[in-house]
Amino acid sequence: MAYCLADLERGARSIESRVTPSAGPWLAPAHYPESMRIDAILEAGEEPVFSFEFFPPKTPEGEAKLYRALEALRPLGPDFVSVTWGAGGSTREKTIEIVTNLRERHGLEAMAHFTCVGATVEDLHASLRHIERAGIENVLVLRGDPPQGVERFERAEGGLGYASDLAQLVTAARYPFCVVGACYPEPHQEAASAEANLEHMAAKVRAGVSVLITQLFFDNADYFRFVEQARVAGIDVPIIPGIMPITSVASIKRMTAMCGARIPPGLLVDLERRAEEPEAVLELGVAYATLQCAELLAGGAPGIHFYTINQSPATRAILSALRLHRPWDRARLAGAGSVG
Ligand SMILES: Cc1cc2nc3c(=O)[nH]c(=O)nc-3n(C[C@H](O)[C@H](O)[C@H](O)COP(=O)(O)OP(=O)(O)OC[C@H]3O[C@@H](n4cnc5c(N)ncnc54)[C@H](O)[C@@H]3O)c2cc1C
Repeated sequence: MAYCLADLERGARSIESRVTPSAGPWLAPAHYPESMRIDAILEAGEEPVFSFEFFPPKTPEGEAKLYRALEALRPLGPDFVSVTWGAGGSTREKTIEIVTNLRERHGLEAMAHFTCVGATVEDLHASLRHIERAGIENVLVLRGDPPQGVERFERAEGGLGYASDLAQLVTAARYPFCVVGACYPEPHQEAASAEANLEHMAAKVRAGVSVLITQLFFDNADYFRFVEQARVAGIDVPIIPGIMPITSVASIKRMTAMCGARIPPGLLVDLERRAEEPEAVLELGVAYATLQCAELLAGGAPGIHFYTINQSPATRAILSALRLHRPWDRARLAGAGSVG
């Protein structure tokens, strides 16, 4: 992929500002890193790209928790952070507000997730204009999950049915965003087949998606096979693995049931054995995710997107260990190229 020189120069400046220690947990306004497209960060970076995903809280207590987690994770210098668009489009104002706040007050490159749920094309344009006015440069385009209690996604009247349609809308109207998309190493629950899963991902890329982030998964073989199949299918954009550190048995069972990800049987047995010991579950979750990320990075993955669920300890421990261990250096020494 080609990027203009200005993007690369901005990339270098932005990366410099990320590794310069700041006086406190937040950057002073004069030191905000310049806004940066995620595809340019990936293109410019020598190091893997690390990102943290948050969701918009519904209560003031939840919001305080989000900012505490952010404060704990901020010193790790993420390349970008992202904020979800609530199921059913329930958080549109809040998502944009938090992304703006993270960029302007906390000096972080931040991406807004954005879905088609419950919106007409006119509504979608209104939100996109709002996102553009806020100076946000990165948008994760999604079909979206239905609102709570609704089983299946229904296209809104006058709305769009697929993420590729949304990518097409953004590209055709020339919004100045880096368009990111979701993808599924274990095929999406509604995909008719693994081939259809790949074909729909290819359609997103044809419609303008320049970076993909995967759904959470626990078996790296699924990711490596999927990336290989994507390359054979001509999909050449970076595919960043999305990793959710397990912090509680009940919550990971709920999440995997919702998104269709498989917990390998051996891991499930070990988790269930510890079900009455929350700390032991957290320890296993951190150990498992650390090994998983190390193997992905040693195998050429371009970075890791952490699903933090607004918690910091697991992500902080894993990323700190990875930064010390640097499995990506071993991959380079062994001559392994980038796969993702
Ligand atoms: C990184 C990431 C972040 C996410 N963030 C959010 C969020 O913020 N808010 C939220 O609500 N949800 C979020 N989700 C969940 C996501 O909305 C769901 O997985 C949703 O079910 C599918 O979204 P999609 O954008 O991948 O849809 P699509 O790519 O549109 O695919 C949806 C289904 O339709 C099929 N399909 C696609 N195109 C066609 C076609 N032309 N004809 C027939 N079938 C087709 C696909 O194979 C798939 O089965 C996220 C998921 C990921 C991986």
